[in-house]
Amino acid sequence: MSLSITTVSRNLVTRFVSLFAAVVLAGCASPASSPGASGGPGPGAFDVVTTTTVFADLIANVGRGHVRAVSLVPAGGDVHTFEPKPDDLRTLAGAKLLVMNGLGLDDWLEKTITSANRDAPLVKLAVDLPGVQLLEGEEPGTQNPHLWMSVKYAELYVGRIADALREVDPANATDYAANATAYNASLKELDGWVRDQVGAIPAANRKLVTFHDAFPYFAREYGIDLVGVAVNAPGQDPSAAEIAALVNAIKAAGVKAIFSENQFPTKLVDQIGAETGAKVVANLYDDSVGDPPVTSYDAVIRWDVTALVDALK
Ligand SMILES: [Zn+2]
Repeated sequence: MSLSITTVSRNLVTRFVSLFAAVVLAGCASPASSPGASGGPGPGAFDVVTTTTVFADLIANVGRGHVRAVSLVPAGGDVHTFEPKPDDLRTLAGAKLLVMNGLGLDDWLEKTITSANRDAPLVKLAVDLPGVQLLEGEEPGTQNPHLWMSVKYAELYVGRIADALREVDPANATDYAANATAYNASLKELDGWVRDQVGAIPAANRKLVTFHDAFPYFAREYGIDLVGVAVNAPGQDPSAAEIAALVNAIKAAGVKAIFSENQFPTKLVDQIGAETGAKVVANLYDDSVGDPPVTSYDAVIRWDVTALVDALK
């Protein structure tokens, strides 16, 4: 009894949402769609809904021509503290595939799916991802979620996205495989560029302090010493003792610059900068793309690395 009621209401919602989506899409492109892939979605393209604009860009590159990649968190928004709104339920209801990171970054998506009665397949890009080496002391399932900030691990995300697209749309399996191969070739080039750039920073200056803990995999991959972070997680303010400990660590290590990300307030890092004499660079990107020209994953990495080199060389 309850099953059939759920099915009926879901069908009604789906029909309403399809109609709504058709009207909206006919009028204008969704502002949350990834701007990353040139050659937009063709006729018959389906929605893949994800949590961040960075993942939307990866999805758009792999799904090129067949997929509309939509991010629930808008560019510049904070995925860690995001609260889905009724509009997001409608977006979810139109998805053929759902993609999230997992590991605590965007777990709100699972609760949202439950209340939206979604039954589209859900892919967790970072959970039990083969080929990932955990950081020292980490346990599987509870590790730092920001794997994609290592370009090597972003390549693994791309492989997982291609597998998922093949499953939901086997007719275009060849295209997804070819797109993933081409895009991963560009990521290999990006990875080499990062190594060259970081190599230009004097070894003694390769020290990183960021606002939130998004860079541990990046730092390990590219030989940068992660001295500390200002907050344990977005929304959790550090205690006075934690700030004092970080200030001491920055002074002891001789850190030249501390970095913050575009989506967070700069008050705390400004304070730490004033207490340590380290320069504050407050426009890095990690969980979100930004305004032009930082509108793709590739551009996020290039922007951050350029900022690091400028501040630390
Ligand atoms: Zn983050």
